[in-house]
Amino acid sequence: MHTGMRRTAVATALALSAALPATGVAGAADAPTTGTGSHVDVEYFPDPDGEGARTSVPATSPHAQPATAAQQRTATAAASADGEVVPLAETGPTADRLDVTIIGDGYTADEQDDFLEDARTKWDEVTDIDPYKSYEGLFNVWAVKAVSQDSGVTGDPGQDVVKNTALGSYFWCSSTERLICVDLDKTKTYADKAPATDLVIVVSNSAKYGGAGYSGLAADYGYDGVSTISSDNDRSTLIAAHEMAHSIGLLADEYQYAGYGDYPYSEPASPNASTLTADRMAAQRTKWASWLGETDPSGGVVGTFEGADYYEYGVYRPTENSIMRSLNTDRFNLPGREAMIAGFYRSANALTPLVDTSVTASRHARLSVELADLGTGLSRPQVRWYVDGREARQARGRTSVVPAALGVPSDRRTHKVTAKVTDTTSAVRSPAVRDLTSNSATWTVKR
Ligand SMILES: [Zn+2]
Repeated sequence: MHTGMRRTAVATALALSAALPATGVAGAADAPTTGTGSHVDVEYFPDPDGEGARTSVPATSPHAQPATAAQQRTATAAASADGEVVPLAETGPTADRLDVTIIGDGYTADEQDDFLEDARTKWDEVTDIDPYKSYEGLFNVWAVKAVSQDSGVTGDPGQDVVKNTALGSYFWCSSTERLICVDLDKTKTYADKAPATDLVIVVSNSAKYGGAGYSGLAADYGYDGVSTISSDNDRSTLIAAHEMAHSIGLLADEYQYAGYGDYPYSEPASPNASTLTADRMAAQRTKWASWLGETDPSGGVVGTFEGADYYEYGVYRPTENSIMRSLNTDRFNLPGREAMIAGFYRSANALTPLVDTSVTASRHARLSVELADLGTGLSRPQVRWYVDGREARQARGRTSVVPAALGVPSDRRTHKVTAKVTDTTSAVRSPAVRDLTSNSATWTVKR
């Protein structure tokens, strides 16, 4: 990925956590006794069909213990070494992809094949949801095996159940049954084994609905966020789809808390929250002005609906409902979808040169690029070739050309040949986002 995303997302997350008053949902007195460790913000969805909530939880877990030597031997014997990385989807170089790392918790040495199956199922479920579905080809997915002593996780089925697991994930975090917390430092040791990690999903071995999303992580974690989800509950998949949207699309939550009252801030940076009503937004041609009045995939029509970004009044969301408001739908609204596409291209490249661009090429040497495997659903990438900035129209759509045939003249000057792919999807209306979807490679060509 490009480092720009990380800085932006972390800054946003930090600003968000600083701006948020402590919600005190569970009450500090109920917090697990984990000593003097630091606390972090999490978001969770107490009801599988409902709106989210936020609270502060310990960064570490009392339920993560190192595996004993005997367990390590068992793991070796079962040929499922702790920390082994299995690529579930390797679509391109990590520098040109969003890299999602999925780590299992509560799987014993003998259950690592179950973990891989669960991880595949979860990723398949996430990528059933648009726009993840249309842009699946911009993601690499790495599964990292973590061998736990016990099968299952703490708090399942009951609050009194305690399991010793590699990442220490547990239900009943902060006295909230459906909130699955995890040990962030243990998680990092496994995430760091993947070739690259932009986003982490922890899959906890459980059929019980639950999960969480961590944001505002310290910059030295090196990735934008951690989602926790239970493995064998399809409703929990939506938690990961929602949480990744904060990191990728820089989307705000579209729900509000009773009693929060008036929005106390100026215009938010998030693309899906605004202090402007529809008339003013249209007049200023800002935020989701270009989508106002359109029929939305989430149902209804795009407008300005009061209540968003946790506040009740003076701040608006684009649609009545969406996956950023409630998990009773798996639909992003049109502005959210466009913001996600912007995020995909901020962090990934649809075009990878197969011939070194730092070396001067000959007129007769073939220049090739590889395109991400897109082109279904919303995504509509189109390649064009340029000689000294002028399009060689005959080469449109090709992934391989010879400069001489493109029209590079046989003179003593150097020339520039550029391959450029732009996503022409109708899911993008903003010129700035369209620019983001444009990826290119340029070679210097000499006779
Ligand atoms: Zn959220």
